[in-house]
Amino acid sequence: PRRVFSAFQASGRLTLGNYLGAILPAVRLQDEAACVYAVADLHALTVRHDPAHLRARTREVATLLLASGLDRSPLYLQSRVPAHTELSYLMESTAHDGEMRRMIQFKEKSAAQEEVRLSLLTYPALMAADILLHRADLVPVGEDQRQHLELTRDLALRFNRRYGETFVVPEAVHPETAARVMDLAVPTAKMSKSAVSEAGTVYLLDPPADIRRKIMRAVTDSGSGVRHDPAAKPGVSNLLVILAACSGRPVASLSYGSYGALKKDTAEAVIEALTPVRERFAVLSADPAELDRLLAAAAARVIEETSGLMAAARRAIGLG
Ligand code: ATP
Ligand code: MG
Repeated sequence: PRRVFSAFQASGRLTLGNYLGAILPAVRLQDEAACVYAVADLHALTVRHDPAHLRARTREVATLLLASGLDRSPLYLQSRVPAHTELSYLMESTAHDGEMRRMIQFKEKSAAQEEVRLSLLTYPALMAADILLHRADLVPVGEDQRQHLELTRDLALRFNRRYGETFVVPEAVHPETAARVMDLAVPTAKMSKSAVSEAGTVYLLDPPADIRRKIMRAVTDSGSGVRHDPAAKPGVSNLLVILAACSGRPVASLSYGSYGALKKDTAEAVIEALTPVRERFAVLSADPAELDRLLAAAAARVIEETSGLMAAARRAIGLG
């Protein structure tokens, strides 16, 4: 079977963008492929963080991934598998300074900060290591990760060419709808955990009243026509995409006379999609020991299953 890997940063609360862009596709892939998923706690160190907060978020993200249905595959914490950092160094020694600096995510996130951590620049090397470590064929990710995936492919090909066939060259899998969910208040920016705006971000654990309020206050556009036209009508188009993804209906089949009616239906569709996740989260949260057990078992399994690949990579590049 094909192999699948994806990871979710513990940089904040999971959002509707994460859910529609990556979690749902990852859940579906479990039916047809051998999947492994991780909470990327190391990636969360690339921006300013608080240790206690990070630990709490890590558990929350892990529990939410399970609650969303990623419960039929190993799920582990990136930091508990040291091969990630070791392989990341081999990737840093394969990549060039220029290609890291060209990454849009680095440019965007570094522009917003006074002090930029070096790990923010080398982030794509760790991400490449995450994926290549698992010899993943498919990587379910949102559209914003397209460039990092391309770089991962480049690094795999470069390493294989220089040192001999070692890594599988992966492919990104983006969902048909909602590969890029936009912020409700700033519909030209993507919805993010490390939020552009709290008011424009739907979190998976938001109570229904909050979801309704955020969507009813979503920025729409002047004029009144409801149609899917992201350039001219980013706010309305975003709502149509969210409604389509949450209701399972194609965007083209959605027809509305007013912004108000569209917002109302979108809010209800999002609430309906997220309610089972929130309920399951509450059940799973009651048993933290079970989460520890599950994460530890998955990490042990990953360490064992990736030791061969790590040995091959070390040997190929001339270590030991
Ligand atoms: P951060 O702001 O810390 O980068 P994030 O919301 O971008 O957080 P990540 O952990 O970086 O979340 O990404 C997890 C997955 O969610 C990735 O596959 C990413 O492509 C996807 N994703 C993130 N934001 C969106 C979005 N707005 N629409 C669709 N997919 C998204
Ligand atoms: Mg991100």
